[in-house]
Amino acid sequence: MTKHVAVIGGGVVGVATAWALVCSGQQVTLIETNAGVGEETSHANGGQLSYRYVSPLADAGVPIKALGWMLQGARAPLRFRPRLDPRQWRWCLEFLLACRRSVNLRNGEHLLRLALYSQAVLESWREVHGLDGFAWRRNGKLVIHRDAKGFATAAAKAGDSGQQVLDVTGCLSLEPSLETLASKLAGGIYSDGDEAADCYQFCVQLEQCLLASGRYRRIQGRVAGFERKGVSITALRLVNEQYVGADHYVLAAGNSSDRLAAQLGIRLPLYPLRGYSLTLPLTSDAQVPDASVTDFDNKVVYARLGDRFRIAAMVDIGVRDATPDPQRLAALRRLCMETFPGAGDYAEASIWAGLRPSTPEGPPIIGASPMKNLWLNAGHGSLGFTLACASAQVIADLVAGRSAPISLEGLALPGQHT
Ligand SMILES: Cc1cc2nc3c(=O)[nH]c(=O)nc-3n(C[C@H](O)[C@H](O)[C@H](O)COP(=O)(O)OP(=O)(O)OC[C@H]3O[C@@H](n4cnc5c(N)ncnc54)[C@H](O)[C@@H]3O)c2cc1C
Repeated sequence: MTKHVAVIGGGVVGVATAWALVCSGQQVTLIETNAGVGEETSHANGGQLSYRYVSPLADAGVPIKALGWMLQGARAPLRFRPRLDPRQWRWCLEFLLACRRSVNLRNGEHLLRLALYSQAVLESWREVHGLDGFAWRRNGKLVIHRDAKGFATAAAKAGDSGQQVLDVTGCLSLEPSLETLASKLAGGIYSDGDEAADCYQFCVQLEQCLLASGRYRRIQGRVAGFERKGVSITALRLVNEQYVGADHYVLAAGNSSDRLAAQLGIRLPLYPLRGYSLTLPLTSDAQVPDASVTDFDNKVVYARLGDRFRIAAMVDIGVRDATPDPQRLAALRRLCMETFPGAGDYAEASIWAGLRPSTPEGPPIIGASPMKNLWLNAGHGSLGFTLACASAQVIADLVAGRSAPISLEGLALPGQHT
């Protein structure tokens, strides 16, 4: 029997969820604050469908590295601004507790399982439903290392997950555009199955498919809270006092998910981590990599998206909004010019900043909640585009009364079935 499902949030996670639900025969109402989908964190992200490179930020040695980064000024991969905010301190404490190799490996496995499934789901959406128009390419991903010790650690890990370890010559023959960096490189790890695409265009294209399905409508509005009866939600209350009733509800509101869940006594340990992107129009003589490139030591990702070159980087902890910091942007521009000087005129690049809805350990929170008709799909951090399709399919299967298509161990809210 068709169920009516209300999805809160029209970022990549909410739109993908709406699509998976419609494909499984449900009727969907999506509620999104902005005039269109994909206008917040899903707007101009790194564009990497990084299916095999999913290691969480929290790892052994990161706290020490972070101290060093703080001395690097505006170009630091991570910047921390302490605030009188218990939410920040609790998140940071949980992050520090997760900075252990065993925890990193365990969470890396959970993310890898979800990511590989996401690749399969997107492939079926592209093939079965003809989804395109979002600059998708299977172009592979090369993670370059400048530090020999870090490269050795990554190379030891790579053997297990089927990635190729390349020396400097191997990196240059794969990506001649790295020539100017040759003397600074230690080596690279290459995953030939990884992909890149434009996340915003993906949201827009998916919504076109949703509209064409006849089983979808979007309401522009902000969900203020929930009407409930016992452990069931009976309606969503919007700020304009409009009510939206449904059989099931999905919380996919990115950085607002924790505040909404808190109204129901559910704690989602989310914190916004600000990052930046630059997008350059590509000229015919631009020297840019064909594969996506991650500069591991500087934590910068580069991807060619159609006729544009997207660069994304940096983590700011302790900021309140997505307003870009001009000093950080200037530092990022300089770093990119040193890495890919032939990419084009960096002064022409369009700028953007977004807030990654992040859990301290890395994996998102997907699946059941203590409310029997509320499903959670939030906290995808720096991998939301990569993980959106799998997370969406998990929710669609659970709403339909089927078991989850993959194990939800390490992904479900603690205490909920996996
Ligand atoms: C610099 C940067 C680079 C990144 N690079 C990559 C990458 O290369 N690959 C990758 O996989 N991921 C990347 N990410 C991460 C990815 O962008 C996010 O994980 C993803 O966009 C999160 O999607 P979301 O749908 O959860 O959140 P959002 O896109 O923020 O969507 C949430 C939506 O909910 C709406 N909303 C919130 N509250 C309410 C409410 N009360 N009522 C109604 N609507 C509401 C918001 O308006 C918003 O549109 C990057 C992120 C950043 C910042």
